[in-house]
Amino acid sequence: MAYIEPAPIMDKENPFESMMSRFNEAANLLGLDQETYEVLKSPTKQVIVSLPITMDDGKRKVFEGYRVIHSNILGPSKGGIRYDLDVTIDEVKALAAWMTWKCAVVDIPYGGAKGGIICNPRGMSAGELERLTRSYTSALIDVFGPDQDIPAPDMGTGPREMAWLMDEYSKAQGKTVNAVVTGKPLVLGGSLGRVEATGRGVMATALNAMEKLKINPSRATCAIQGFGNVGSNAAVLLEERGLRVVAISDQTGGYYNERGLDIQDAIEYRNKNKGILEGYPNADRISNDDLLVAKVDVLVPAAKEDVITVHNADKIQAKLIVEGANGPTNAKADKIIHENGISVVPDILANAGGVTVSYFEWVQNRIGYRWSLDRVNRRTDRVMGDAFNRVYETSVKYKVSMRLAAYIVAIAKVAETYKFRGGY
Ligand code: NAD
Repeated sequence: MAYIEPAPIMDKENPFESMMSRFNEAANLLGLDQETYEVLKSPTKQVIVSLPITMDDGKRKVFEGYRVIHSNILGPSKGGIRYDLDVTIDEVKALAAWMTWKCAVVDIPYGGAKGGIICNPRGMSAGELERLTRSYTSALIDVFGPDQDIPAPDMGTGPREMAWLMDEYSKAQGKTVNAVVTGKPLVLGGSLGRVEATGRGVMATALNAMEKLKINPSRATCAIQGFGNVGSNAAVLLEERGLRVVAISDQTGGYYNERGLDIQDAIEYRNKNKGILEGYPNADRISNDDLLVAKVDVLVPAAKEDVITVHNADKIQAKLIVEGANGPTNAKADKIIHENGISVVPDILANAGGVTVSYFEWVQNRIGYRWSLDRVNRRTDRVMGDAFNRVYETSVKYKVSMRLAAYIVAIAKVAETYKFRGGY
């Protein structure tokens, strides 16, 4: 393949360009042919929908929603739905592509997709959110399907929204179709272990990497940005494995205790406090910026993308970064971190535990059977362990970072599958 110029890198990166610059580098290393490159880089389908909703005050408000299917080469596309005011089509495109690479890294038979609605879910009532979710589902009724495109939760959405989506989709089909969406409540066919699955994968890959780096978990400290699904579950599990979690944060700021925070106590406080840590009394305050550069062994960014940039990459003191969030480190910062000898377990590997258990949920729905928590966890640990080893061995073979290695593993798999499937 002719050498592909990496995408230009700005300070505040466009997430799609950030994804493409890694994709291009890995494609060059792999020697991917030009035709396959063109196919893999282009999203298969991009849908923009306009959703007029009656708000509680009786007024109509129009929301914009997106669904991007990046690839369905490996199978039906899979990816979460984000409710956030910052959602953009470029962000959704990047997140959809990351889903393609993530599913390929953990070797599950899914392509990649992502959805989003520009809204502030915390400022909306349950009734407004229900109407918005049902309207989005109805607008995308021909896109979704258990053999086509299977959504899941992401930032700002959870089991409740997935239940509305499943119900709306099922009504349109005239039958219950629980395999159309994952991350559902247990009573609707959700899987045991799904809620903590992403945090569990973060913990498992962190321990794998610590073993390679000869960091003893029971002597290690850790800082975690984001105290939602991924961050808080990772915190519980890392604490259980002996790490001292000295800093946590959410959008209201950071909380620090050198001797280690009591994670269960922080979770109980958050649950009683409308889901946020604001005012948490049993720790000192630090800013989110200070948390990222705190003196710890392991840093887990688990909030949102583009938080590690050229402005703070040089100041990071952690020996290991385990990316719970999607795209927390932008491409320019990546180079600085690599040059400073900091190891990174990249997002498409570290947070793939969630999609792995989503896949198990879909499998259980299709066979009409529920697995025990023990079975789900054992299978997840095996999938994540195998994926870590594949990526680590590839990083040694190509003498590249684990991030590039993960892209190499993923692109090689999708490219090989594409060769067999062919095109027009
Ligand atoms: P969530 O909504 O449950 O939690 C997000 C957390 O981040 C909250 O604590 C929020 O307060 C905090 N936050 C938001 N903006 C912040 C900011 N500017 N600074 C610091 N904290 C901030 O979301 P989640 O499901 O935990 O997802 C977090 C990240 O992990 C996202 O990037 C998501 O795409 C990724 N991810 C989630 C899953 C999953 O299964 N939930 C799977 C893979 C990847």
